Amino acid sequence: MNNKDNNPALHFDTIAIREGQVRTEFGAHGDPIFTTSSFVFKNAAEAAARFSGEQPGFVYSRFTNPTVAAFEQRLAALEGGEQCVAFASGMAAITAIFAAFLQQGDHVVCARNVFGTIPVLLTKYFGKFGVAITFVDLADQAAWEQAITAKTKLLFVETPSNPLGEVADIRRLAALAEKHGAKLVVDNCLCTPALQLPLALGAHMVVHSATKYLDGQGRCLGGAVIGNKTDMQEVLGYLRSAGAAMSPFNAWVFLKGLETLRLRMDAHSAGTLAVAHWLRVQPGIEQVFYAGLEDHPQHALAKKQQRAFGGVLSFRVRAQQKKDGEGRAAAWRFIDATQMLSITANLGDVRSTITHPASTTHGRLSPEDRARVGVSDNLVRVAVGLEDVADIQADLARGIAAL
Ligand SMILES: *Cc1c(COP(=O)(O)O)cnc(C)c1O
Repeated sequence: MNNKDNNPALHFDTIAIREGQVRTEFGAHGDPIFTTSSFVFKNAAEAAARFSGEQPGFVYSRFTNPTVAAFEQRLAALEGGEQCVAFASGMAAITAIFAAFLQQGDHVVCARNVFGTIPVLLTKYFGKFGVAITFVDLADQAAWEQAITAKTKLLFVETPSNPLGEVADIRRLAALAEKHGAKLVVDNCLCTPALQLPLALGAHMVVHSATKYLDGQGRCLGGAVIGNKTDMQEVLGYLRSAGAAMSPFNAWVFLKGLETLRLRMDAHSAGTLAVAHWLRVQPGIEQVFYAGLEDHPQHALAKKQQRAFGGVLSFRVRAQQKKDGEGRAAAWRFIDATQMLSITANLGDVRSTITHPASTTHGRLSPEDRARVGVSDNLVRVAVGLEDVADIQADLARGIAAL
C-alpha cells in the first residue's frame, strides 16, 4: 500500500500502521521478515540490470531488503520526507551523513549538547581527514550565525537536547543553513515524528537512533536518515560501500514499534510532565529541567515547535555540604536508593531508567566541557517509561529520602 500515491489524506496513526506493508502470495496479515542475504534473478541480463540500478528491485541485503524497505517507507512517510535509508545503529546513520556530504577542508557547526559520541566521531575521526568543527550552544542563535563560514557544509543539532531538554529553533537554523548553502541535520531522536516534524520546519535531513523510541521497548539497535531523493542517493551510496546495514529482524521490530509510536509518545510525555511537576516541589531537589515546565527558558518555542515535550527530564539534587565530591555522592545515593527504576543509560523504553550523566554518558568530556553543557555532578537524568506514574514517583521518593 503506497499511501502517498493513493490517499494523501491519511493521518499519522494510519500511516504508522499501514504504510509500507508487504503482502506476500500467502496473504499473511502480519509483516513478513525476509531473512535472506541475496535475491535470485531470472537470468544474467536481469542480474546486470539490477546491479546497475537500471531495473528497480532487490539485490543484496547490505543495501536492499524488503523488510528494511517497509520500515524505510513507513518512517519516511511519518517524517514527511521523500526517502529514508536505514542503518545498523544511530551512530552508523550519523557517520553516513558526515561521510556522504563532507570532504577535506569542509566545516561543520555542531551543537555542543548533542549525543556524546558525535563530538568524538567528528573531532577524532573526521578531524583526521581535514574537516573543521565548531561547537555552539544550541539555543544561542547568534553563536550559530557567528560560527558559519563559506566552508560550512552541515549544521547538526539535536533538539530537544539530552539531558537538559534545551530546544533549538529549527526554522531559524534552517533559514541560516539555506542562506549559506549548507544543510541542516536534525537528530529527532527525543521527539520522534509523533511530536516534531523537522523537515516541515525547513530542515534538510532528519537522523534517528531507532534504538530509542522507534523501537520503544529497548530490544534492538538501529538508525535512519530521512531527506530528499537526491541527498538519500548519496547516503544510500555510502551504505552500499560501507555496509552498516540494518538487519531485517531489527527492521521488523521497528515496524511494530512505529505502529504504537504516537500512543507511546503521548503517554511518555504526559507521565514525564506529571513527574516533573511533582519533583520540583520535593525537598532536596534544586532544579528540574523539562521543556514542558512553564519557566523553562525555551518553553514557548518547544510548545510552538513540538506537539508535546517527550519522556526525558533531569534534575539537580541538593548536596548536604558544599564539599568537593558531595554533589556526585548525593546523586549516587539518590540513584542507589531507587528500587524499581533501571540504572541504565538507555532511554525510549517502556521501563523508566535513571542515570548519572557526569559519570556515564558525559564521563568522557573534560570537567570544563561538562560544565559548559550544564552536566554538573549533582545532576540526575530520568527517562520516564510507561509504568504507573504513582509507582515512578514512589520510587523517586526513595531517592529523595536518601539525600
Ligand atoms: C542513542 C542516540 C544516538 C546514537 O544511536 P545508537 O543507536 O546508540 O548508535 C544518537 N543520537 C541520540 C540523540 C541518541 O540518544
